[in-house]
Amino acid sequence: MAVAKGPACKQCRREREKLFLKGQRCFSDKCVLEKKPYVPGQRAKRRLMETEYYAQLREKQKAKRYYGVWERQFRNYYKKAVKRKGVTGEILLQLLETRLDNIVYIMSFAASRVQARQLISHGHIQVNGRKVDKPSYQLKEGQEISVAESSKEIIPIMEAKESGGSLTMPGWLEVDLDNLKGKLVRYPERDEIKVPINEQIIVELYSK
Ligand code: SF4
Repeated sequence: MAVAKGPACKQCRREREKLFLKGQRCFSDKCVLEKKPYVPGQRAKRRLMETEYYAQLREKQKAKRYYGVWERQFRNYYKKAVKRKGVTGEILLQLLETRLDNIVYIMSFAASRVQARQLISHGHIQVNGRKVDKPSYQLKEGQEISVAESSKEIIPIMEAKESGGSLTMPGWLEVDLDNLKGKLVRYPERDEIKVPINEQIIVELYSK
């Protein structure tokens, strides 16, 4: 499973940004970043002497951590984005945003992306009615995502569903939370992707 290494909250502190890696805790006052909004480690100050390269590197690390992908995988997303027509940075984010694990999380079938990856790997999620156990599965427009009938009452899914009831879904997704199913209606526009990431900086890094 392609997940960034290290304790979740430490990753957020490292990037000085909420990456929402721990489900409901991230939205509560228990979020560590509320109390310790600084980079862990004694050498942090020295590292913060930012160069342009350092800023680009950090932005890429942040994106990898946010979506939970490894370096090689991330670079492959970039290569794919370059080959497609359009703005590379936006396409890069679209590809990451339409990974199955991310969509399962946004649809509130899981409390976090990490949990979404586990649910998918354990066979609880279907695409167009067929089990898909690859968290990085790339969704296409019109595909339906659902929780397998036999998995609808497992605790993590029921808890995620309960806390997701109050969320507003983005316009590019259709979600029927009661029946734990939804659809990728279309690919998201850049202004619909609400992530704390400056993709242009990442493109500058890779295009060197
Ligand atoms: Fe990050 Fe969530 Fe931990 Fe806050 S609680 S530091 S958002 S993983």
